Amino acid sequence: MEYGSEEELRRILHDEYFHACASLHIGSGSNLLFLGDYNGIVLHSAIKGLSLTEETRETVSLRIGAAERWDDVVAYAVSRGWYGIENLSGIPGECGAAAVQNIGAYGMEIKDVVEEVEAYDRNTCEKHTFTRETCRYAYRYSRFREEDSPCILTHIRIRLAKTPRFVLGYGDLQERMANLYPGAGLPDVRRTILTIRKEKLPDPEQTGNAGSFFMNPLIPMRHFEALQTAYPGIPSFAAEEEGYVKIPAAWLIEQCGFKGKTQGEAGVYEKHPLILINTGNACGSDIARLAESIREAVAMRFHIGLVPEVKYIG
Ligand SMILES: Cc1cc2nc3c(=O)[nH]c(=O)nc-3n(C[C@H](O)[C@H](O)[C@H](O)COP(=O)(O)OP(=O)(O)OC[C@H]3O[C@@H](n4cnc5c(N)ncnc54)[C@H](O)[C@@H]3O)c2cc1C
Repeated sequence: MEYGSEEELRRILHDEYFHACASLHIGSGSNLLFLGDYNGIVLHSAIKGLSLTEETRETVSLRIGAAERWDDVVAYAVSRGWYGIENLSGIPGECGAAAVQNIGAYGMEIKDVVEEVEAYDRNTCEKHTFTRETCRYAYRYSRFREEDSPCILTHIRIRLAKTPRFVLGYGDLQERMANLYPGAGLPDVRRTILTIRKEKLPDPEQTGNAGSFFMNPLIPMRHFEALQTAYPGIPSFAAEEEGYVKIPAAWLIEQCGFKGKTQGEAGVYEKHPLILINTGNACGSDIARLAESIREAVAMRFHIGLVPEVKYIG
């Protein structure tokens, strides 16, 4: 069921039949794994539009409909010379979902630019506006990701900078941008990131995949130090949480020998072990079985519980 305005959404939320059924709100479905048919109403927003709501000498504020393609917004911001989301170039999906998921890449997260999120409560039909703080953002998390969240996002508001604020310290990006400096601009950053992503990630239009299947696990420093003794080359990133470090899930999966492996028609992408792919006609439960084998192997060897970033439905 698709709605194109807040008025249409309110009409759906006032419908008795809607409340008698289970319901699932989706974006473009790029981070969902259906284990079977969904037995309920699938809702999708068609609320589009992007407006400039405030402009100062240093910043601009934009109000964007939940159904806008995230990457179109990034392309637009880059074309206008607005900073703050260029590193999030090429991430599939819609703007509502981007704010639900707290999408992130190359040292940026959408939470860094979100000012407000407008949402309806599916139970009461009341409209609420959440500030960045009340969205309760963390790594790939917001209050809207909770299983029992009643929120349906209709618009997001983001604030971008008009003065240069590059974040170029991440891996491949740092190396490639070093060749372009000095004088590199926003379009160079976007182009470089799109190139890196094209080289590393399978195109979901060609090969079914949902991006990174698992989140990078956070582990206590003491656990990390014990692992370092056994695996001196173990990579890690600083975590925002004191006393914890983040370990690349891709490394853990590769160490367990899954890179490029297949189980039937479900596989682990040979260029990036964090991505599970459908090599033919795998169904959702085939992918889930492979994911479970990976979780078990990583837990057995490293005593780390991988948590899926992908949302299982059914
Ligand atoms: C090739 C590939 C690369 C990717 N790379 C990255 C990456 O670099 N970084 C990253 O963070 N993610 C990445 N992802 C994951 C994905 O792009 C994001 O999670 C994206 O935000 C999902 O958007 P979507 O519109 O497809 O949402 P869906 O997958 O349809 O839904 C995601 C979640 O949002 C909820 N939702 C959607 N719309 C609304 C709404 N209006 N109101 C309330 N809830 C809603 C859904 O219920 C679900 O819980 C990648 C995925 C792929 C396939």
